[in-house]
Amino acid sequence: MNSQDYIAREEKFGAHNYNPLPVVLERGEGVFVWDVDGKRYFDFLSAYSAVNQGHCHPKIVDALTEQSKILTLTSRAFYNNVLGEYEEYITNYFGYDKVLPMNTGAEGDETAIKLCRKWAYQKKGIGENEAMIIVCEGNFHGRTITVISMSSDPEARNEFGPYTPGFITIPYNNIDALEKELKNPNVAGFLVEPIQGEAGVFVPDEGYLKKASDLCRQNNVLFIADEVQTGIARTGKLLACDHEDVRPDILILGKALSGGVLPVSAVLADDDIMLTIKPGEHGSTFGGNPVAAKVAIAALEVVKEEKLAENAERLGEIFRNEFRNIESEMIKTVRGKGLLNAVVIAPKGGKEAWDVCLAMKEYGVIAKPTHGDIIRFAPPLTITEEQLRDAMERIKKAFAEFE
Ligand SMILES: *Cc1c(COP(=O)(O)O)cnc(C)c1O
Repeated sequence: MNSQDYIAREEKFGAHNYNPLPVVLERGEGVFVWDVDGKRYFDFLSAYSAVNQGHCHPKIVDALTEQSKILTLTSRAFYNNVLGEYEEYITNYFGYDKVLPMNTGAEGDETAIKLCRKWAYQKKGIGENEAMIIVCEGNFHGRTITVISMSSDPEARNEFGPYTPGFITIPYNNIDALEKELKNPNVAGFLVEPIQGEAGVFVPDEGYLKKASDLCRQNNVLFIADEVQTGIARTGKLLACDHEDVRPDILILGKALSGGVLPVSAVLADDDIMLTIKPGEHGSTFGGNPVAAKVAIAALEVVKEEKLAENAERLGEIFRNEFRNIESEMIKTVRGKGLLNAVVIAPKGGKEAWDVCLAMKEYGVIAKPTHGDIIRFAPPLTITEEQLRDAMERIKKAFAEFE
């Protein structure tokens, strides 16, 4: 079978809910992936920042294979000897009293919303079914019905209604709008991405997160950070909130929490919030399973051992400087933090971001456009300076094709 055959088979038997770049991958190692013809690519998407630790990281894969031979799933109907180890490890790692383990990022967000609502009724004293959560325009928190009910993206929402009520939408990066809505005594939480990833890597003004979290505290409203994409060292700190010394009341993690080998997400909070959910009120069959627990410990250890946050911070600067030096009319804006970056593409002669991605693919770098005119650049955080400079040369050649 060749690439075309693999693509045709997916087209025929799979739902058409994605529009992939025409490359068929069969192997990954570190920052590289190989297609079915043996061609090597720099992976500049990292599965939407799930593979921060690099493809098939040996330590993480070892944790997966070792635990999978011993015990894979007990459900939470029984205790096991691994979950507690993980719970202790991750709560110490991020500095919270408790963790609630889930699988996907969307489930993490759903969990945070449920937790916030419970807290609203039990601790803040909001009347039953009256709790509101403030969210931001342009957000991306996943694909479930409640999560898309918070979305302002027509593609994500249209013809999926009726929607879950209880959300107030304000513009992102707008403190005045937040301050105004916080006057509403029924507001229980403010859910925000410290950098809007899917929207196209929108970095808010410096001080926005700090001011927002201070305002939430003053108004007895929970500051809920969705760090599913920005967390785990991606932006040059362990958490993007760390850039402003903000400690979320509820922290949502996913994606790179497993280094990309399994769906593992987590919600972290202190007792005052977390213990409002009682036995039987929330859960997940696979959430916190022994394999996920061992994998997440290994994935978090790798982040510290290999100093991935420091590497992302340093190489991110180089990436943006190099990119800003590329002479191309198609490069409108270069923005980002650490190794979460985006380039806004100005169409030229009918050629768009998609065409740039196809050209980069020919030169051995794969990335994907988002919202038509934005290309996100997010390599694994294990990338070395030499590898980054090699990839930049290839990217330059791809842009030169359009001059
Ligand atoms: C990817 C993402 C999610 C959803 O994660 P899934 O595992 O795809 O459900 C939620 N929030 C943010 C910020 C994300 O980037």
